[in-house]
Amino acid sequence: MAKRKLTRRQSWRIQKIQDERAARASKKDAAIEQQLDSSDLGPEQHGLIISHFGRTVDVEAKEGDNQGEIIRCHMRTNLGQLVTGDRVIWREGKDTGVVVAKLERKSELLRPNPYGDMKPVAANIDFIVITVAVEPTPYANLIDRYLVAAELSGIEPVILLNKTDLLNNDNRVEIDAMLQRYRDIGYTVLLASSSSEEGLADLKSYLDNRISVFVGQSGVGKSSLINVLLPGVDLKVGSLSTQTKKGRHTTTTARLFHFPDGGDLIDSPGIREFGLWHIEPDDVINGFKELQPLAGSCRFRDCKHEKEPGCALKSAVEDGTISEYRWKSYKHILSSIEEQNS
Ligand code: GDP
Ligand code: ZN
Repeated sequence: MAKRKLTRRQSWRIQKIQDERAARASKKDAAIEQQLDSSDLGPEQHGLIISHFGRTVDVEAKEGDNQGEIIRCHMRTNLGQLVTGDRVIWREGKDTGVVVAKLERKSELLRPNPYGDMKPVAANIDFIVITVAVEPTPYANLIDRYLVAAELSGIEPVILLNKTDLLNNDNRVEIDAMLQRYRDIGYTVLLASSSSEEGLADLKSYLDNRISVFVGQSGVGKSSLINVLLPGVDLKVGSLSTQTKKGRHTTTTARLFHFPDGGDLIDSPGIREFGLWHIEPDDVINGFKELQPLAGSCRFRDCKHEKEPGCALKSAVEDGTISEYRWKSYKHILSSIEEQNS
């Protein structure tokens, strides 16, 4: 957006609004610090951020008499940004509690804000469950795109095929072959049907003791799966596409849910879109976990893996060590990103 010149009156108004905002913020900080100094607060205890609303968070007590209770908390201002999934130290107050420390994060799920800066939206996630379905037809290239994003985030991806009730003699062979290629690379592939409930027991035990997010194209059955895994929460089936149409930067806050059989889910419309935003061309290779280790063995350090002699990747494709499909997919993702950038 081009910067326009402000009139003196407009500048004055903006300054006034900013001053008022700053005054309110520092009053709030002073109130929090005062609350911390007073003896009204309980002892320090461990908690888990369940949800985040601007200046307050919902913290679940992880120890003591109130274990499992959810308490609205303010937070000390020097903590940096807190997100759903953060483990914290907090103290109970009269109406609201106060978060006094943030524990180190095991992982961060980042997404760009409207200004293009990568910001954490959730913390401590163990699995990115890339959900595909028998219908709509799963495309390897889209799975690869999600895998790249997951690998770059450093969080373990798992591929889940939903709607196995729709497998038949026409589609089974192709889908099996595609999934086998991911198993061969070392990815976990799970099968389930949220309608026939086939495979759900295995899925539940896989998710136990872990924090997961479900990502994937609209229509693959994420809401349906989450509804059977989380009875009583009732995420609207088929509603997501209408929500996301409102804009790419859906800000609905991420929320953490406990599966009744163990394990947690963090979900928000924004998180479900994970993987489809910008990736730097040079990073693509690092998202292909069987290609990345070979890239250093090319004859030329700056090998583009195109026509150069002594390219380790190309010879691995020729001798069959690397799947032709994945190689084409790598090339395809790279050129689509380069096209976007040009
Ligand atoms: P989302 O967009 O990924 O959240 O997908 P939804 O949960 O809204 O599901 C999309 C459509 O697929 C709905 O019409 C569901 O009823 C249907 N669906 C979901 N899971 C299954 C399944 O296991 N089998 C079949 N046959 N249909 C399913
Ligand atoms: Zn090369």
